[in-house]
Amino acid sequence: MDQLRASGLVTDYRVLDAMAEVPRSEFVPPAHRGAAYDDVALPIGHDQTISQPLVVALMTQALELQPTDRVLEVGTGSGYQAAVLRQLADHVDTVERIPALAEQAAEMLEELGVDRVSVHTGDGTLGWPDEAPYDAVVVTAGGPEVPPPLLAQLADGGRLVAPVGPRHAQELVRVRRHGDRTVSEDLGPVAFVPLLGEAGWPAA
Ligand code: SAM
Repeated sequence: MDQLRASGLVTDYRVLDAMAEVPRSEFVPPAHRGAAYDDVALPIGHDQTISQPLVVALMTQALELQPTDRVLEVGTGSGYQAAVLRQLADHVDTVERIPALAEQAAEMLEELGVDRVSVHTGDGTLGWPDEAPYDAVVVTAGGPEVPPPLLAQLADGGRLVAPVGPRHAQELVRVRRHGDRTVSEDLGPVAFVPLLGEAGWPAA
């Protein structure tokens, strides 16, 4: 947490507090637990990663969450960021395309007593229409564009944060909805695993 504070980039103390509450070590496979509190992405199996803490903090901060917000996360992975998001919002729907990861994440969230996080298995590029609209949407894998279904599921005044660009290097983009209009901002370069799905990269 000191590294995050020292970066000078995470200025929302609520985000720092939220991250201090969630034990990242519980979401990291035993072989990598020694590095759980280093500011690095770590493997979680199935060729996927738990994101770097600084990136989790910056994406969470960019969502400008309010305690009554309903959030959609695309890319559950380990479940860590979903737990962080829940600290700052009322409810989180999180969608993961790899069933084994979704199952593992749901088990860990339950074990830690994190309530009001619903883990779903499926193609998150299509969002989760049954529970839309969302006050905030975060995509934790990099796609060629912001998936149109996710924009359609963003509430008026809502914020969406997603890595967008070529497969191996993306820009973090924040989109705000104002009625029928959306306004995009570029928040800087990032590198994420690919977002695979109907409104992402082809799955193979
Ligand atoms: N937020 C995660 C955490 O806290 O551990 C890290 C996510 S990891 C960087 C990206 C995840 O996105 C992977 O688990 C990957 O399987 C998932 N993913 C990729 N494409 C997806 C899609 N279309 N729908 C849902 N999940 C997807």
